[in-house]
Amino acid sequence: MKYENIRNQVLEAILQAVEMGLIHGTSGNIAMKDDKDPVVAITPSGIPYTHMTADQIAIVELETGKWIDGPFKPSSEVPMHLAVMKARPEVTATVHTHGMFATIAAMEKFGGLQAVTPPQAEFVPVGIVPFTMPGSDEVADRVVEALGEKGRACVIKNHGMMCCGKDMKAAMAATTYVEEMAQTNYYAKLLNVFEPMPEEAVAQMQALIAADQAV
Ligand SMILES: [Zn+2]
Repeated sequence: MKYENIRNQVLEAILQAVEMGLIHGTSGNIAMKDDKDPVVAITPSGIPYTHMTADQIAIVELETGKWIDGPFKPSSEVPMHLAVMKARPEVTATVHTHGMFATIAAMEKFGGLQAVTPPQAEFVPVGIVPFTMPGSDEVADRVVEALGEKGRACVIKNHGMMCCGKDMKAAMAATTYVEEMAQTNYYAKLLNVFEPMPEEAVAQMQALIAADQAV
């Protein structure tokens, strides 16, 4: 099997996302860039993930999105994954989910996401992408814009969330903690007790993480 390593990493991540309830049915998709060739492994379109095997993960060209290997058509959301990888060369993994709480947090009146616990601080600010048709180049451009130079996550109105990382572990951590942040914000706001972490504490946490990653 060609590109076994990235196919395995995508498969492992998608199964983990299903198990964690971040992905239901065939919704959401995960991609990983090869470290040698300009190709990307991505989950196929419309196939349930539960019994998937690594050879069923699609391979596309990074530059063009052309499907070059795998038995099933790649996800229709290929443009969004590739756009992020092309705009941010340090990003090797992207995770897109339709998680319930992130989707609610993308609505304007929600008021945006704020970190409530220290692990969540790594992933703010979380940009908000206005609604554009899934799978379009427009949504891809807006996601790139919302992530900016350093962003790890953005929520997409009436759709879901897009996260990225230097490796799959980092992209999955962003997905997990941003969905958790959305859930924490949601319940705290519902109960009228919302108290996010102070801005200085968020900045301190981010400085600690940056120093740790620099070592
Ligand atoms: Zn989607």
